[in-house]
Formats: sequence, C-alpha cells, structure tokens
Amino acid sequence: MMWDYEQPVDIRFGNGRVSEIGELARERGLRNGMLITSGHFVRDGFAQRLIDDSDGALTGMFSDFSPNPDVSEVDACAAVMRESGTGFVVAMGGGSAMDLAKAAASICLTEDSIADYHGTGKAMPQKHLPLIAVPTTAGTGSEVTCVSVLTNRALGKKAPIVSDGFFPNLAIVDPELTYSVPPYVTACTGMDVLSQAIEGYWSKGHQPICDACAVHAAKLVFRWLPVAVAEPRNAEARERMCEASVIAGLAFTLPKTTSSHACSFPLTNIHGIPHGEACGLTLDWFAHINADAQHGRVQEFARTLGFADVDAMADAIHDLKVTIGMRTGLKDLALSESQIDDLVRISRHPNLYNNPVDITDEMLRDMYEHLAATD
Ligand code: NAD
Repeated sequence: MMWDYEQPVDIRFGNGRVSEIGELARERGLRNGMLITSGHFVRDGFAQRLIDDSDGALTGMFSDFSPNPDVSEVDACAAVMRESGTGFVVAMGGGSAMDLAKAAASICLTEDSIADYHGTGKAMPQKHLPLIAVPTTAGTGSEVTCVSVLTNRALGKKAPIVSDGFFPNLAIVDPELTYSVPPYVTACTGMDVLSQAIEGYWSKGHQPICDACAVHAAKLVFRWLPVAVAEPRNAEARERMCEASVIAGLAFTLPKTTSSHACSFPLTNIHGIPHGEACGLTLDWFAHINADAQHGRVQEFARTLGFADVDAMADAIHDLKVTIGMRTGLKDLALSESQIDDLVRISRHPNLYNNPVDITDEMLRDMYEHLAATD
C-alpha cells in the first residue's frame, strides 16, 4: 500500500482561545483583517467585540450570506474585500461562513467571478489571502480541509471546489463558541461529523493515519452527540464534539467522502434538507451495502467501535437519528416517480465513485423508494 499524508493547518484547540486572534495575527504580521461571520454573532454583539478586542488587526466585517452560500454571495464578499484592501480573513461560523471565506479570499485577488471555477474543472488561482478559520459548529471540519462547498442557485447546482489554497493557515477551535448552536443544528452538524468519519474510513482512498482519525471521531460522536443535543451547555459534550469534528475533518479530507455525501447534494439542493441531516439519512443504508467490502476492514471498524458487526453499527446509526430528532425517511415529501428519478440521476456525483462498492442506479432507486415510503 502506498499513501501520502499532508496536513498544513496549524490547529489551536480549547475554550476561550478565540480571544487570541489579535495576538496571532500580529505574530504573523497580518493587518487589515475582514471578519466573515454569520448573523448570529452580529446580532449578539460578539463579532463587534472581537473586532474591538483585536488591537486593530480586524477592521471590517461581512455577514451577508446564507447557509449553503451562493456563488453570488462569494462575489459580493470578494468585491468588498477588493474595495477595502483586505489583508487577511477570519472566518468565524459554520461551514457556510468558512467555505464562503475560502473562496472569497482567493478570487478577491483577481477580477473573476467564483462561478468561473464552480463545477467547471477550472483550477483556482494559486494566490490567496491568509485565512484564519474559527468553526462555531461541530461540524464540517472545513477549518482543516482544502474544500469549499458552494451553491449556484440560478443553475440549481451545489458542488465542492478543491484547491490547496483553501487550506486555512490557522484553525482556532473554541468549543465555547458552539454553546449557542440550537439542538436541531447540533444534531444536523453532528451527523455530518459521523458521516465524514465513516465515509473517510471506507473511501477507496483510505489510508492509515486517516483511519485512526476516523475511528477516534466516530467513537466520540456515538458517545457525545446525544448529550450535546439534549444539554447545549454541557461543556464536556461540546468539547468532545468539537474534538470529533476537527478530527473527522482530518479523517476525510485526503480520502474524500463517498456515497452518503454524493446523495446529500440533491437532497439539500432540491428538497432543502440541511447538509448533515441529508448525509445521515443514507448512512445506515450504505453501511449495510458496504459491510463486507475491503476484505473485512469495514467490519473491523464496527467492532473497534464496540459493535458486534456493521449491521449492528447501522442499527445504532438509525437509533441515534431517532434519539436526536433526525429524519429516517422522506415520506412527508410525497415524492413522485419523476422526483425519485431526479434523485437517482443527480446522486451520480463524483464522490459516489469513492464508495468501496460500485453503486448502480438500481441500488440508488431501491434506497430512495424505501426512504420515500418511510416516516
Ligand atoms: P451552517 O454554517 O450553514 O450553519 C447552520 C446555521 O447555524 C446557520 O444559520 C448559522 O448562522 C447558525 N450557526 C452557526 N454557528 C452558530 C452558533 N455558534 N450559534 C448559533 N447559530 C449558529 O452549517 P454547517 O453544517 O456548519 O455548514 C454547512 C455547509 O458546510 C454546507 O454548505 C456544507 O455543504 C458545507 N460543508 C463543507 C465542508 C468542507 O470541507 N468545506 C465539509 C462539510 C460540509
């Protein structure tokens, strides 16, 4: 077996560490920073306090974007950065804030629209502004990945862009920032962590360092996600889920995600199901399909996590979804045959080809018909 491992992001983890931004920026000679953050932190005044406490390192703020950010919002942010001569970027938020920031920090140094690079195969420019990522959900792991997932609503397209320039220079993971995440968002983002860990492990691109990260992260999610959902201010649960999130990011960024992520894109795009909930919806189904793949290593993963076998792990994923209030079916959408055809067709995303078992259209149709009939 041959493999390469690279992880260029400097990670700082711990409660209260977001207050180090000003000092860390100064140490690195960074000036005139733009804080990109979601509405929640603008409304509660935290974003302005962070700017005020940064000793002049942060000078601007952008928060005009939506969950699953649109290419037009990236272009608008890049235009503000060009006009104000932004010198570095701090992205404080969930995956949406970090992914928008990654893309804007690259194209602001050009006159291009990000749409030129989104799903077109055109390589991103090499130059980009320094980026500090501060995740506030647990989470996408975007703080340690070279991926930016964007949506082009006009074209009905959601797709990742991958570029080495998207690796943040620094990730500050401060669990206290996640205390305010509402239970439903905690549940959705936690299912994203579990999907990344499991898919990173069984991906065709798996490798030993990422395997170890996947096992560690998945164990933490099964143990701590129900607690974080039920008790939002439980410090240990929040800290352990942040640990799971950043480590799941390391688990999947090189191997890449697989079938559940491929299917999540149309479920989010067409039916508006949040990213993590959409990933989790099909995770147990694909666990059954992949159970005996890779000469027993998926079975070994399940046993290492303390389950009798992969089928028992799939049942535990199902039970976890029920406990934390996630969907286990799509019956309420009353999907027509042609809507199921669309889901099958659009699930044929490149990530599907990383799955250890070849997934046919018939397998996808079986799965979507089962979900369409399930509450
Ligand atoms: P999100 O960033 O869309 O946030 C969800 C909601 O929670 C938003 O309304 C946001 O304002 C709010 N929120 C965030 N932090 C909060 C806090 N601390 N307190 C209160 N509210 C808060 O959700 P997400 O799941 O973190 O990110 C999803 C996006 O990330 C999707 O577009 C997904 O495709 C993408 N993604 C990217 C990667 C990657 O590697 N780049 C990996 C997985 C997913």
